[in-house]
Amino acid sequence: MLKLDAEVQKCLKCGKDNTFLTQADIHEYGVWIARNQRGDRFSRVQLIDNPVFEELLELIKTVCSEHSITDHGKYLDPKVTQNLFPIACDLVDGNSVSFRDEARVCRYCGSKDFAEGLSMPINTIEVKTFDVSYDSWNNRSLSDKKELVFNALKSIPV
Ligand SMILES: [Zn+2]
Repeated sequence: MLKLDAEVQKCLKCGKDNTFLTQADIHEYGVWIARNQRGDRFSRVQLIDNPVFEELLELIKTVCSEHSITDHGKYLDPKVTQNLFPIACDLVDGNSVSFRDEARVCRYCGSKDFAEGLSMPINTIEVKTFDVSYDSWNNRSLSDKKELVFNALKSIPV
């Protein structure tokens, strides 16, 4: 069972309320919450003693050193590894998972402008879950993995 906070915010353009699920208040050490692209299913992912996550961190260091990237520390920052870890996770419904909250866009008019305050108090709701798996990653060769990591590093602004 997984519970997330639901925040209701009023769109400044069309005036309608939108509900957004957020993991902002989940501060469980060594745990990230993954979501599918639609943002309607979630997964609690343990990072501690997670061999895939540890392998990814090692590969980031290796790839940086092989490509003479000296300031590799910035790529080990959790803000960055949150963007990188999805490359090791299997697709869900054909799309990458994400470890970040979805961008807030009004589902009625597409605006990104919302009232600052919430329309109602935060309520906690139980969400549907899925299991993150790593089969595709685990079946890749080391050189494949390195290439994936390098391409991801190039595409991520730090
Ligand atoms: Zn709107």
